[in-house]
Amino acid sequence: MISGAELILLDAVIPWPGAGAFLFEPGPLQAALAARRLEVTVARWGAGMSGVRRDSNLLAAAPLLGRLVGVTAELARRAARYDVLYANSQKAFVLAALAARWSGRALIWHLHDIIDSAHFGAAQRRLQIGLANRWTTRVVVPSSAAARAFIAAGGRPELVQVVANGLEMSPSPSPPSRAALGLPEGPLFGVFSRLAPWKGQHVALEALADLPGAQCVIVGSALFDEGAYEAQLRAQAAQPAFAGRVHFLGQRADIGALMQAVDVVVHPSIHPEPFGRTLVEAMRVGRPVIATDTGAAAEILEGGRAGSLVPPSDALALATTLRHLLQHPDPAKLAYAEARARSVYGAAAMQAALSAVIRQAAQPA
Ligand code: UDP
Repeated sequence: MISGAELILLDAVIPWPGAGAFLFEPGPLQAALAARRLEVTVARWGAGMSGVRRDSNLLAAAPLLGRLVGVTAELARRAARYDVLYANSQKAFVLAALAARWSGRALIWHLHDIIDSAHFGAAQRRLQIGLANRWTTRVVVPSSAAARAFIAAGGRPELVQVVANGLEMSPSPSPPSRAALGLPEGPLFGVFSRLAPWKGQHVALEALADLPGAQCVIVGSALFDEGAYEAQLRAQAAQPAFAGRVHFLGQRADIGALMQAVDVVVHPSIHPEPFGRTLVEAMRVGRPVIATDTGAAAEILEGGRAGSLVPPSDALALATTLRHLLQHPDPAKLAYAEARARSVYGAAAMQAALSAVIRQAAQPA
């Protein structure tokens, strides 16, 4: 499965054919980057590294220490061929910081996360911030919320640059019918995220319990080792109150079509989100979106002008807002949201801003 941060990377590299990409392990990203004409190398010693969770205790990585050293040395050798290193994940950043130090290259960290105690342990936060403050040329974050969290965690403010994530997605003029997609008729909302406790799908189900007659699709699969949460959600959905009203669709590639088929898109995260591609996608295809008012959601939805905001973990507020939107769609608001997504969160704007950051980092200080 390609993660949200990897989807951003795939758009970000389009203006950079001939650049190098260094991956820990083979996977779908390898072919996707090669298709964008990057020179892709897979680390010789990287096997098993993707399995180390980004929020795991550092000790969990100890058995991999030899491999980590091997991969870092490989990366440092490869880095000598380029002007700038660009790290796109937490693990990549730690290794790239060491490799940048070794090879004397500039380092950009595209930080796709909110650095706070809800997402990372204290030791990991210290490591991230320490490496960033010492050896990073620029830290790119997708929202002011992510910038604030980095600075609150001790990151140097002058390192940070906000570049909003951008993406392209247009509504299909002839979207498949609900029947063709295997979806039911009647009031229907959808959640489009990987299955993880902090993504809050359980709150969406609690809200559904208050909405007799409505149905819900849960799209996405469990990443890392969050299978237990999926089992918990399925058990919750099997309760008599739901009586077949919850549909688990698993990981899907046809997000645009599915979003167009539902009445409302819900993004119920219980902790701050650094961004929220899902919100922009819903806006682009003209669907009303309800997100929890935490992290970057308020920025993307312009404080509620381009969507609806509810408090996190508040199933009652979510049910009330859902009921209202299901009964009273607001075409003017949808048109405003679509225009905002296109002008502020397009791929071209992101590519131009990131390319400027890369060129600036490449200049000798
Ligand atoms: N997504 C997908 N298939 C799925 C579920 C989600 O392609 O089955 C996509 C979704 O459309 C969005 C991305 O995964 O583009 C999730 O990005 P977001 O920023 O919302 O969350 P992240 O997973 O990066 O925390």
